Amino acid sequence: MNIRRLLTTSDPNAVEELYAEASRIRDEVYGRRVFMRGLIEISNHCKNNCLYCGIRRDAPRLTRYRLTKEQILECCRTGHALGFRTFVLQGGEDGWFTDEVMCDIVAAIRKAHPDCAITLSLGERGRDSFRRLREAGADRYLLRHETADADHYAHLHPKEMSFEHRMQCLHDLRELGYQVGCGFMVGSPGQTLDTLQKDLDFIRDFRPEMVGIGPFIPASGTPFEESPAGSVEATLRLLAIIRIIHPHVLLPATSALGTMHPTGRERAIAAGANVVMPNLSPQDTRALYSIYNNKLATGSEAAESANDIRARMKAIGFEVPTDRGDFAG
Ligand code: SAM
Repeated sequence: MNIRRLLTTSDPNAVEELYAEASRIRDEVYGRRVFMRGLIEISNHCKNNCLYCGIRRDAPRLTRYRLTKEQILECCRTGHALGFRTFVLQGGEDGWFTDEVMCDIVAAIRKAHPDCAITLSLGERGRDSFRRLREAGADRYLLRHETADADHYAHLHPKEMSFEHRMQCLHDLRELGYQVGCGFMVGSPGQTLDTLQKDLDFIRDFRPEMVGIGPFIPASGTPFEESPAGSVEATLRLLAIIRIIHPHVLLPATSALGTMHPTGRERAIAAGANVVMPNLSPQDTRALYSIYNNKLATGSEAAESANDIRARMKAIGFEVPTDRGDFAG
């Protein structure tokens, strides 16, 4: 497969064939099923200063919040009643969530919902911390590698952050028995066909259980606030390519795609994606988790967004089962 050609061609037939092939492979592995994950944004405090991110440490004028254990458990209870069987706890790197605090929360979710998968997406931590969280009951961990090119990584992050450490975390998570997700933004400042090729090579070699990709969207108050957004079209093509090179991968239609195009998530499914992540966070904190401008679905209730997603998926011929949706590899 010539990736460069697939990413740059203006031949609509070649693009349609790409999507059809990815869709066929997804159907073969997972059937016409889309798995739903309940996203709970637990904190917008962050000690990091990633140059692209709207909740970076130096983001001006941002009201910071963190959810309590009880709020998080309430989100899970609501989600469970709505048919969610995976909860994704995501947040900035917030020192308030020490291992002790986080293990207590994970263990409480595990006890309350033994039939659910618990996914964490809390950034980089030490191997021992990952081990303790795993022992407390976490099953999966999402940590986008952001780019597989060390120079590009340095362009996107401040000096104190290290490409090697991020990659080390992914390897540690894998060794500790997590189902691991990596990923990157499409169209991030400084990204080239060469860096994308490295991302795809990394995915092919590492074979993560999940890959999260979505367009880069500028965030006000960040050094990249004037940079152009990544393209929906390129994201869709990359989703299809990832499905083809790694058929069993769990591949979300991310909300960044939904933000950039009204039917972005449906188009992602047509290009081989098979996961959607409606927001289960309390309504009053959603707008504050502003990692990029105009983030989607800041207002609707959990039930409303779950029903909306189910209806949208049904309309394009997909079932949304009440299922953990584990990796099928
Ligand atoms: N702190 C955790 C971490 O580093 O993995 C999780 C939260 S972080 C906000 C989740 C993801 O949001 C990042 O991995 C990044 O790819 C994405 N993100 C951040 N800023 C973005 C932007 N401006 N546009 C699109 N995606 C963005």
